Amino acid sequence: KKYVYSFGAGKSEGDGSMKELLGGKGANLAEMASLGLPVPPGFTITTECCVDYFRNGSELPAGVEKQVKTALAKVEKAMGMKFGDAKNPLLVSCRSGARSSMPGMMETVLNVGLSTKTIPGLIAKTGNERFVYDAYRRLIMMYSDVVMEKAEGIEPAEGKAIRRQLDGMMEELKEKRGYASDTDLTVDDLKLLCDQFKIQIRKTLKKEFPDDAMAQLWGGVGAVLKSWNGKKAVSYRRIEGIPDEWGTAVNVQSMVFGNMGDTSATGVAFTRDPATGDNKFYGEWLVNAQGEDVVAGTRTPNPLNNDTRNEQNKALKSMEELYPELYRQLFDIRCKLEAHYHDMLDIEFTIQEGKLFMLQCRVGKRTGTAALNMAMDMLGEKMIDEKTAVMRVSPAQLDELLHPILDPKAEKKFEVIAKGLPAGPGGAVGRIVFNSEEAVAAAKKGESVIMVREETNPEDVEGMRAATGILTARGGMTSHAALVCRGWGKCCIVGAGALEISEAAHTMKVGGKVYKAGDVISINGTRGYVYAGAVAMMDSSENPKLQHFMKLADKFRKLGVRANADNPADAETARRFGAEGIGLFRTEHMFYGKNSEKPLFALRKMILSTTVEERVKAVKELFTFVKKDIKNTLTAMEGLPVTFRLLDPPLHEFVPSAKEARQELARALGIRLADIAKRAEGLHETNPMMGHRGVRLGITYPEVSEMQMRAILEAAAELERDGVKCKPEIMIPVTCDVAEIKFQKGLLAKVAAEVAKKFKLEKLDYLVGTMIEIPRAALLADEMAAEADFFSFGTNDLTQMTFGFSRDDIGGFLGDYLDKKLLAADPFQTIDQKGVGKLIDIAVKGGRSVKPKLKIGICGEQGGEAKSVEFCHREGLNYVSCSPFRVPIARLAAAQAAI
Ligand code: ADP
Ligand code: MG
Ligand code: MG
Repeated sequence: KKYVYSFGAGKSEGDGSMKELLGGKGANLAEMASLGLPVPPGFTITTECCVDYFRNGSELPAGVEKQVKTALAKVEKAMGMKFGDAKNPLLVSCRSGARSSMPGMMETVLNVGLSTKTIPGLIAKTGNERFVYDAYRRLIMMYSDVVMEKAEGIEPAEGKAIRRQLDGMMEELKEKRGYASDTDLTVDDLKLLCDQFKIQIRKTLKKEFPDDAMAQLWGGVGAVLKSWNGKKAVSYRRIEGIPDEWGTAVNVQSMVFGNMGDTSATGVAFTRDPATGDNKFYGEWLVNAQGEDVVAGTRTPNPLNNDTRNEQNKALKSMEELYPELYRQLFDIRCKLEAHYHDMLDIEFTIQEGKLFMLQCRVGKRTGTAALNMAMDMLGEKMIDEKTAVMRVSPAQLDELLHPILDPKAEKKFEVIAKGLPAGPGGAVGRIVFNSEEAVAAAKKGESVIMVREETNPEDVEGMRAATGILTARGGMTSHAALVCRGWGKCCIVGAGALEISEAAHTMKVGGKVYKAGDVISINGTRGYVYAGAVAMMDSSENPKLQHFMKLADKFRKLGVRANADNPADAETARRFGAEGIGLFRTEHMFYGKNSEKPLFALRKMILSTTVEERVKAVKELFTFVKKDIKNTLTAMEGLPVTFRLLDPPLHEFVPSAKEARQELARALGIRLADIAKRAEGLHETNPMMGHRGVRLGITYPEVSEMQMRAILEAAAELERDGVKCKPEIMIPVTCDVAEIKFQKGLLAKVAAEVAKKFKLEKLDYLVGTMIEIPRAALLADEMAAEADFFSFGTNDLTQMTFGFSRDDIGGFLGDYLDKKLLAADPFQTIDQKGVGKLIDIAVKGGRSVKPKLKIGICGEQGGEAKSVEFCHREGLNYVSCSPFRVPIARLAAAQAAI
């Protein structure tokens, strides 16, 4: 087996496409060398070697040793030096590098090959004794840590790690001498340190630091291999879902030195600004330093050029100023690399006595803003095509772009006081309020507030609207607060269980501290983090590039995108975000929140009626409100389709509990207060989610369904008469049998005939369909389709009924399922493709076996979640419908699924 691949001096055995075998670092080093860039020669031991090494019981597979020696000889020839030689010694680094980058998780050792034998030769050759001893002390520090301690599986007590001890010794000496910086250490200081280090290593690790180049090399290689199974690396793989079988490659590369004096340096750079995406070469570098110094933060690094200075380094000289010629060279390389990789790259370089070397390149990580700006800029520069541009922004990055956020830099300086579920994206800063009235009052004064509650209910809607952010101690991702906030695009955290909230005492206790009403807190709804105090905010949404980008995405997607909206304002928001219709209009939403008083009162009268006459009277009253709401929404959608769902929730939800409200109702209905209580009790159900709701209401009270049907058809007829186009679709919820659809269609036929007659129309233009949200309906989809013009998957209920998980109570146990890895994800956030997806698949196939062109959509919360959208695309659905603020995300996810 070929285990070793050489690179350098203008040619390589591997290339950039071989990440699986050579790891990301090795593959890109090979690629850069082939491009003719100045890469110090070296070789890569493959990831297969790592896999075989562990299979072999931590023994190198046969053949590796020989292949390494051959490759090393090649490097020696290219460099004109010899590894372990007394006169002209070559030094190398042993660097880890897996398929996908695992930043800081695995190990690297520099300056391998320095020993009492090679030190004099290197001093004679470089004439720089200080440099040699600086390199030596670095080798000892790194090697003892990585090879002698970590790779041996030694777990030192807190603060007793060998690296900590040696660092401490060096600091102590610096202090004693009154030095400010590592570069102040003299040759004698360094020699003394190296001697002391070796003694300390012997004392702590009971082993000698190896004084032989070859022994060091194999030690380094072995340590890098072992670091694949180091604690850090293993837990990182668990989190990121990287398979254990991948293994790491080992890159052995000739050393170049950034620590040879004032004309030597080292640095890291991004070919464009990774925070903003600006087309500016952005980086940091240090004179007279070795690679790890820049990242370690021991010295403040200098800026690369003059227009990318920051607060920290504004007084320091840039490379552009100090070494214009080198800067120009580096800039050329930057352009070459971008042109070659067609993307923003993250690079490492080192300058040895005025000569530039490239040590690493990889596609750079970036913020949402930067991803968008770079994609559109590179498209403009013709560096990438349209499809690539659309693929460059992930749905999560787009989400980040649509909401004001906490400034990530500022956020880092604060301590997280509590964590919850990230229910509504973006960030919010404000004073704590504990109830709806206080939120409304504060908002009237123009104050920004965070509403903190145990959990929210429909009566809090006013306050939630008024607050900048919502924080609750209980509830899951589909709790009331989460649903409402996501719909509005409002920042929200739910289920922050550590909070002890006393709404009565107006206090919130957490981590031994008490927060009172009026105290300022900040919340990050994208991550679920709560902070005390005011974190600075950032708004990144005002970007004309975003509009252009979304248009591009629309060009490629096949899936339609609609919104869930229940009033003209939301309808308008939805259209602004590019919705092509409404996939779910919940009739009952007019009974919540602002201006709901009168319709709610009429509804309550209807609910508490016991005779048909009482009910018919109340229903008539309700009709006016319902029709007006429907008409306004149809108008706002200007001819786009709107799916109206007939009344869905269990009725007892609307019965008031307050005595005054009950009294008023009793008066209106001409009955006694006690009767109200009795009737309310009669509506009580043990298991309301599976109780008297959805189509079942329309079976028991046909007059209620008829009223809604009439409101929809009359509103549409009136608009048509006035020349306004509209496409109403009537949707029957919670069905489990085609007989229910037939029954409702019977009512509809009767109402339609009456409306047609009233408006002197021959025929009304509408569709009637059903939700598929009970497993039985999915299983019998072929029968359902015979009577339905369309299907819409209500994935919230379908998930609830398929799992048997109550979505209102899931907060109590979901966390355990996720922690114990019994579930990979919250099925209310992303469609459970295995189980719920199977039902969807059965229903799609069943429905289309009867009606090949049956229109099918989804209107659950998951309709705006990228993975679920991709699933819907694969299933051949016609559209997804989601909260207005998620429409752009669904559009992008649909485009990416189609590319
Ligand atoms: P990481 O993946 O943690 O960045 P690297 O293998 O890239 O680890 O190495 C750590 C540091 O050492 C980097 O700054 C790198 O540039 C530097 N380095 C690695 N190999 C060499 C070398 N052969 N010559 C000079 N510097 C090197
Ligand atoms: Mg690196
Ligand atoms: Mg439902």
